[in-house]
Amino acid sequence: MADTTHGTTGSSIAALADQCVMCGLCLPHCPTYRLDRHEAESPRGRISLARQLESGQLPASAATIAHLDHCLGCLSCQAVCPSQVRYDDILIQTRALLAPMRPRPGLLARWLSRPGLLGRLGAFSAAVSADRWLPGLSRLFPGGSTLRRLAAETPRAPAPIPRWRRMPKPDPVRGRLTLFPGCVASVFDRDSLAAGRQLLEALGYEVATPQEPVCCGALALHAGESQQALATAQATTRALEACGASTVLVSASGCIGSLRDHSLRGSALKVADILGFLAADPAIETLSFRPLPGRAALHLPCTQISAADGAGPIRALLNRIPGLELLELPAQPRCCGAAGRYFIDQPERADRLRSERLGQIVELAPDWTLSTNVGCRIFLGNGLRQTGSKVPILHPLTLLARQLEFAQP
Ligand code: SF4
Ligand code: SF4
Repeated sequence: MADTTHGTTGSSIAALADQCVMCGLCLPHCPTYRLDRHEAESPRGRISLARQLESGQLPASAATIAHLDHCLGCLSCQAVCPSQVRYDDILIQTRALLAPMRPRPGLLARWLSRPGLLGRLGAFSAAVSADRWLPGLSRLFPGGSTLRRLAAETPRAPAPIPRWRRMPKPDPVRGRLTLFPGCVASVFDRDSLAAGRQLLEALGYEVATPQEPVCCGALALHAGESQQALATAQATTRALEACGASTVLVSASGCIGSLRDHSLRGSALKVADILGFLAADPAIETLSFRPLPGRAALHLPCTQISAADGAGPIRALLNRIPGLELLELPAQPRCCGAAGRYFIDQPERADRLRSERLGQIVELAPDWTLSTNVGCRIFLGNGLRQTGSKVPILHPLTLLARQLEFAQP
């Protein structure tokens, strides 16, 4: 029997599901329950389905699999559960249980859970400006295909890496830190990573980055590919340990939980949200930021709340920019629909979630939208363009580094 427990606590689905007291407190926080008002589209319903599937009480019918596949993996349920149910482990194990029952995924679908290939695909797409011609070409393909959807949502070429003045090497160095580049983020989040490095170096840290491709493993784990996830975790652990720092800082909120709780489980490396780290560093008081009159809408990805350090550090850091007004977006619908590869696999549901969030942004009419998740930025950015909006969508780190007083070219 396939090992379905890699990257989890190793407890069976039944043991994990027993923690759930069926109170239903998570239901109002679940985006898919909000879409359908159907018990099987709720965390409680899915936990029950997973338990029955594992025990064989319930056959793996198309309807049951669909309810489980509709889960975004946003973990909004886990964040509010008073019984501390490890929903993440239940989901990963259930998807691994279902993996052998599914048809073998196509080449493109397999690429989408492999970090090295995904990074190269992103780099190729950016190099040939695929966002300009692929959507038109995709109309030649039959509707609903993975390629068609991927083509329609091809990210714009990544923002150029800003040419900030290189910080002088700190003397003495306050410490060595590793900055986690990720797979998709290493291509489409280059500006945020450069901004993170700039801020850390301004605070006197030496910043290391891994020499080999690294990935948090979320895409493989949530696709039920436990062997692929294991191989990714081993390679990533080796590459991060070789950096020679004890703390790995992550700027992409979607990577933090998978890296900390799954891929690096058992490693001595500490994983931290770079925004929480910066906000907590007393030396942040020594940095000054140029005024920026304008309004920024803060989109809080579900992973920023469920796995990273939440909104507090982001607000504290952005409040250091004089003149910047922060606008709050409503908590609901919590997830914008991007959710790893969910926007490709479940396009209709993803678009319903995105549409609600886009409406909120357009109504606020900010000068910038800020989000810590690269997937959200790509998906919402595409949506904003489709509505004709010109509101730029950035990582909060990018705005901070742009305004850093002595880091300008
Ligand atoms: S997952 Fe937690 S919050 Fe949701 S029904 Fe179970 S015990 Fe209650
Ligand atoms: S992970 Fe998100 S979508 Fe899935 S059950 Fe929990 S709250 Fe709902």
